[in-house]
Amino acid sequence: MSRFLSARLSDLEAYTPGEQPRDKKYIKLNTNESPFPPSPEVIAAVNADEVSRLNLYSDPTCKLLREKLAARYGVESDQVFVSNGSDDILNFSFMAFCDKEKGMAYPDISYGFYKVFAALHGIPSRVIPLKEDFSVSADDYLSLGMNIVIANPNAPTGLTLSLCEIRNILDTNRDSVVIIDEAYVDFGGESALSLVPEYDNLLVVRTFSKSRSLAGARLGFAFGNKELIADLELIKYSTNPYDINRLTQVAGCAAIDSDSYYFDNVNIIMENRDYITAELEAMGFEVLPSKANFVFARHSNVDGGELYTALRENGILVRHFTGERIKDFLRITIGTLDEMKALAASLKNIIADKENKA
Ligand SMILES: *Cc1c(COP(=O)(O)O)cnc(C)c1O
Repeated sequence: MSRFLSARLSDLEAYTPGEQPRDKKYIKLNTNESPFPPSPEVIAAVNADEVSRLNLYSDPTCKLLREKLAARYGVESDQVFVSNGSDDILNFSFMAFCDKEKGMAYPDISYGFYKVFAALHGIPSRVIPLKEDFSVSADDYLSLGMNIVIANPNAPTGLTLSLCEIRNILDTNRDSVVIIDEAYVDFGGESALSLVPEYDNLLVVRTFSKSRSLAGARLGFAFGNKELIADLELIKYSTNPYDINRLTQVAGCAAIDSDSYYFDNVNIIMENRDYITAELEAMGFEVLPSKANFVFARHSNVDGGELYTALRENGILVRHFTGERIKDFLRITIGTLDEMKALAASLKNIIADKENKA
């Protein structure tokens, strides 16, 4: 830290992204990326022609992309916002809708960025504990008088809220914005998109990073009432109007045209999730019932941190969090079937070793 850093930021704890190591080739199951490449249409669209136009700024209105998303999801294009990753949409939402008087409520165990954005902008947070079984307690969000952000499916648990529970939260918080972060919804959750026409306080946030294999392109999108979307545009045009570059705009358009490719991949991931869940359970893990492209699991007698380290030594990266309630768990991204088989084999060896020594 330099002596010039604003005093306001001196205690800021930044988000810790999952590792992207370059030292050797790992089986990467730590950041919930897709194991599958972008669709052939996306690879064809990001071509030399488009690169040759990089001297020109990208379209700040992202007209084509927003129209395609609107048509695909059955909304108007002024109900669609796009940004440089859904992280930016979340950040913009904290900036647009919160202040010292109106804070943000979110679960204690959820996406790590919510707490970081609140701290960055000096916004008061209300951190609401998950239930004993790690599910979000919808009742705890009724009539809060604060803005609310909930990931559904939640991360890192993979557990979901029903639409009925989300509706109750929306009904009792009509004067606050309720943000439903649906980064993982394509893997079996129920989207709140259908509630957008009814609720002017609902923002549904999505991403191309998980089910659409474009984490490296940085593209997020959101649906909401057109006034809410205009507020997000206000922040975007007050920070960086060209936040989505040309290559990402063409990649996004081509990705929307490749639904069948991505939904085949999603089905494979859901099958592989069933496979690894059964394998883990047979090894003595408790696995939370996930509707995401990862599982959250703890072993009955081997520590999460130890498993993480041993897997890493075997060339397999998973995510381990040190928070008190979840330090026994591993969050494992669902990869290809071969990757899941390699993970299962490696875990069996590690656990057998431990149990022989004990
Ligand atoms: C991955 C993830 C995001 C961020 O997605 P980007 O679009 O890549 O910024 C947002 N929310 C949750 C819960 C996520 O897991």
